[in-house]
Amino acid sequence: MSGEHENRDGRRIHVVQLYPRDMNIYGDFGNVLVLKQRLKWYGYSPVVTEYNPGDVFPSDVDVVVGGGGQDSGQVVIQQDLQQLAPTLRQLADDGVPMLVICGLYQLFGRFFKTHEGTVIPGIGVLDIETHGGSDRLIGNVLSESVEFGEIHGYENHSGQTFLGEGVEPLARVRKGEGNNTKDDTEGARYNNVVASYLHGSLLPKNPAIADFLIAKAAERRYGSFDPVPSEEDFADLERLSRLAREHAGLRPR
Ligand code: GLN
Repeated sequence: MSGEHENRDGRRIHVVQLYPRDMNIYGDFGNVLVLKQRLKWYGYSPVVTEYNPGDVFPSDVDVVVGGGGQDSGQVVIQQDLQQLAPTLRQLADDGVPMLVICGLYQLFGRFFKTHEGTVIPGIGVLDIETHGGSDRLIGNVLSESVEFGEIHGYENHSGQTFLGEGVEPLARVRKGEGNNTKDDTEGARYNNVVASYLHGSLLPKNPAIADFLIAKAAERRYGSFDPVPSEEDFADLERLSRLAREHAGLRPR
């Protein structure tokens, strides 16, 4: 358990980070930092639990976040992930907001078959399958989503993901590859699950997705999303915006 922050009215939001030891590359940890900071700005108390293989899965779960990983990291967590599968499927079906990136995106699907032919079974939250190719898809991506507008990020993967019938893409790719080299889809959406290939990290570059996850989490736990920034946070924002204006040579407002 790390990163407890208690505000005055103690409206806690429990964020569970899946497998940070093995599945957390290209800055994916930044997604958790953004959720924590924005929750605080909105007057909620983030409680972040890091879940690694063998840990006890927490009983209070409002948001689930998972990052990318090497094929070897995916092999390390696969057994533990299978044992968590019924819990994660139930939470996803119940509408718990989740963000899964690249390696865990693949394993939220049916399977990832690596380029060497190893089949790493997924947990079937998403009706997708992933096949490792000989080329890695690497570079900056610009995509366009109906829900979130433009989504920017960075991809680096050998797996090519294909969406089944029960799942919608997160976005359409305008620059880069996204899910695969055959169609223009990027990521996947199911219920309140947002899945994407994009590192960067994703949430600092695309805060609308962070706010979606936070709003869903607050609605589920407290009935509605009511941002109530604390006075200190207002003061902080004011100070940051003043510094930024000074730095840019602009007159104070
Ligand atoms: N190992 C997977 C692949 O190469 C996922 C990579 C990642 O998470 N960036 O496709």
